[in-house]
Amino acid sequence: MAKLNENFFNLKKNYLFIDIAKRIKAYTAEHPDAKLIRMGIGDVTQPLAPVVVEAMEKACREMGVKETFRGYEDSGAGYDFLRDAVSDYYKSFGADVPAGEIHISDGAKSDCGNIIDIFGEGNVVLVTDPAYPVYVDSNVMSGNSVLYADSNEENGFAAMPPKDIKADLIYLCSPNNPTGSVYTKAQLKEWVDYALSNDAIIIFDAAYEAFITDAELPRSIYQIEGARKCAIEICSLSKTAGFTGTRCGYTVVPEDIIQKNSKGEDVKIADLWNRRQGSKFNGVSYPVQRGAEAVFTPEGQKQTKATIAYYQENARMIAATCDELGISYTGGINSPYIWLKCPDGMGSWDFFDYLLNEIQVVGTPGAGFGKNGDGWFRLTAFGTHEATAEAMERLKGLLKK
Ligand code: PLP
Repeated sequence: MAKLNENFFNLKKNYLFIDIAKRIKAYTAEHPDAKLIRMGIGDVTQPLAPVVVEAMEKACREMGVKETFRGYEDSGAGYDFLRDAVSDYYKSFGADVPAGEIHISDGAKSDCGNIIDIFGEGNVVLVTDPAYPVYVDSNVMSGNSVLYADSNEENGFAAMPPKDIKADLIYLCSPNNPTGSVYTKAQLKEWVDYALSNDAIIIFDAAYEAFITDAELPRSIYQIEGARKCAIEICSLSKTAGFTGTRCGYTVVPEDIIQKNSKGEDVKIADLWNRRQGSKFNGVSYPVQRGAEAVFTPEGQKQTKATIAYYQENARMIAATCDELGISYTGGINSPYIWLKCPDGMGSWDFFDYLLNEIQVVGTPGAGFGKNGDGWFRLTAFGTHEATAEAMERLKGLLKK
């Protein structure tokens, strides 16, 4: 009989989206004519940029012609045309990331989980709470226990290095899902210094970097001195360019990260990642990589930035409504998420039910992202202008009463 990975039984049942779906189903069964506005999911709604579609169409046609057909890509780490384009993109905001350290992937979620393969047992793993669930779940599946750094109202939902924990692996996400908070350069420097002093590695999730408009805020951890020695960065085109259904991301593993093995010998983390990928991953499809390359062309940047600006306008509307209603929140400016404090001391789920029943607006209860999320609520800016504006009118009507 096959033995099971019993660590799976230690996973917390993630009922969040199931519970939300159940409550919506029950409500719509009783109110079939209700016009629900969904501001809970983190998926995008606007289509791919025309340059991306054209590039993928052209690449598909190349695949149908003997002379230009492509099979397996040699390294599986991505075609040079895309790795070079990503490297140039990094340069555009002041981060020096050599193309050879960029590994093209099918998205950030897989690599956030896969990265665990190169680390052994017994690491002290530190995750900020609340957090995107894959950081915790992938560690629990591997039998690692997780410690938490609290992100809360006092620290603006930007957890800082704990004095009493000596971590080995640290997960950071900025701009943050779910809280929308963004680390400043000074704050990230503290994390880099903490990692260097503990010989720890930071896994930095930059999936929402494209939403940062404030030039003072870091879009990559490699804008911080010392990060090349301690940080792996995972990024995605999902929110940058609407690739949630197309699938493409990239992970940077710098050659400068050196750790000791149990014999005391120096080991390059990049060698382990190359080996892991060589054994388990055969690359991203050629048409998708051509589509991704198009994102980084001047026209691609213009078109994808226009879509981001569209979502940012929604975020602005939500933030302005919170301001008008005197509701505390983080995010909404350099992030597509608005993380708001439920009014009158309500719990996250009570507020969820209140909005669903009274104004048919659906958000995400903060409690689903960790203990510090209770009493908080996430709204996303990924809807249409019309739906967002309508939801905000309904919210004002309800909470101004
Ligand atoms: N990282 C964060 C913080 C996210 O919120 C998400 C998706 O919502 C991802 C990663 C996943 O990105 P991808 O679609 O590239 O797998």
